Amino acid sequence: MTTTTSAAEAVAASLRRMDEVKAGADGLNCILWSDREHALAEARAIDESRAQGPLAGVPFVAKDNIATLHLPTTCGSRILEGYVSPYQATVIRRLREAGAVLVAKTNCDEFAMGSSNEHSAYGPVRNPICPTRVPGGSSGGSAAAVAAGIVRIALGSETGGSVRQPAAFCGVVGVKPTYGRVSRYGLVAFASSLDQVGVFGATVDDAALAMEVIAGRDPLDSTSADVPVPRYRAAADRPLEGLVIGRPKEYFPPSLDPRIAALCDRALDALRAQGATVRDVSLPHTDLAIPVYYIVAPAEASSNLARFDGVRYGLRVTGDGLRGMYEATRSRGFGPEVTRRILLGTYVLSAGYYDAYYKKAQEVRTLIAQDFRTVFGNGVHALFTPTTPTPAFEFGAKADPYEMYLNDIFTATANLAGVPGISVPVGRVDGLPIGGQILAGHFEEMTMFQIAYALERALGAEAHR
Ligand code: GLN
Repeated sequence: MTTTTSAAEAVAASLRRMDEVKAGADGLNCILWSDREHALAEARAIDESRAQGPLAGVPFVAKDNIATLHLPTTCGSRILEGYVSPYQATVIRRLREAGAVLVAKTNCDEFAMGSSNEHSAYGPVRNPICPTRVPGGSSGGSAAAVAAGIVRIALGSETGGSVRQPAAFCGVVGVKPTYGRVSRYGLVAFASSLDQVGVFGATVDDAALAMEVIAGRDPLDSTSADVPVPRYRAAADRPLEGLVIGRPKEYFPPSLDPRIAALCDRALDALRAQGATVRDVSLPHTDLAIPVYYIVAPAEASSNLARFDGVRYGLRVTGDGLRGMYEATRSRGFGPEVTRRILLGTYVLSAGYYDAYYKKAQEVRTLIAQDFRTVFGNGVHALFTPTTPTPAFEFGAKADPYEMYLNDIFTATANLAGVPGISVPVGRVDGLPIGGQILAGHFEEMTMFQIAYALERALGAEAHR
């Protein structure tokens, strides 16, 4: 990304666009908090310092579960209303040190639990491509901010698809890095063994650039890996000759909308035309991902969210004694989906049920991870799949939680296995964006970006038609 304008001009333009899309009863509602004076002052300081580099003066937004100074961090929840973190997340610090300017925090499903943004305490986000539909979730505000042209780079978080799925629904690029590739310091914990910060880009190059800056070992997160960070943008010009791309049959079930399957096969043809070989493969435990994910994630969430007790953070509602205060605070502060997950998670971890549910789920999780190791160990460099089984749906269309959970069917596997994934626009169905997903082995983001760049180049304007 090259900036020919000053930082102050770029930030002012971003703030103007934010006002345009917020205005009116049918505003997108993708932005929760912003401080225009602070952002403009930071931009002016960058101009004065004559900072160089590809991110100098580039405006960005971050999901509201990533800790920032100056702006609130509420996780889209009432329980943290008005809470301002005393420290900033490593990903925020790294982007700011590279000269990027945080212009706003974005709306999301409460504590990143959801696939539609309908679970935010601050109201749903509308999809900029079709405002009667959801933008996806849980990082829907960040996806919408990129799709609406407020920024080219946005941070989100992934536990089961929350960057890739909204990227697909909004027609932008979304990356979920390898577990441990990016520091989680300052990312509010949902399910710690699955969570990763991810990035949205208007293009593959925007996402690759942001990844170069945020990836790498962080002494403040002991699960961040000490693995060198390649220059992901160098993947842009690498030819695909010699690459084997797997087409896993479990991600193309007979029930898949044939128009989505056709767009994915067109994308695979484009990759083949650029020199890649496409091979049919199988990941036999794929259909167990949703049941496993919806045991592991709520179990970890029930433990992580115990800290919101009215004593340490945010909201406090007084009740009858200490226990009454806990109960009043948590029942007032948490919305219905978060409450459901805490109940579910506590249940599967309780004595007598732990072995039957949680332990079993962990065992099956190992089988799902093993599926990926097996295909990647057999000469396959990456996998290509649809990102989601449907395009963006109408508000209220998935009121049954199980229906909503099924939307994560193609994305939750990567989080359970810890492998990286990217969603890239591959075309439209009924005018609605469809994403194609590229999955690669652990720390093989370079291969993932190589294929994503090639696909973006080959499809050109077709990706958005
Ligand atoms: N939709 C999934 C869930 O509700 C994924 C969320 C996420 O990735 N943060 O848990």
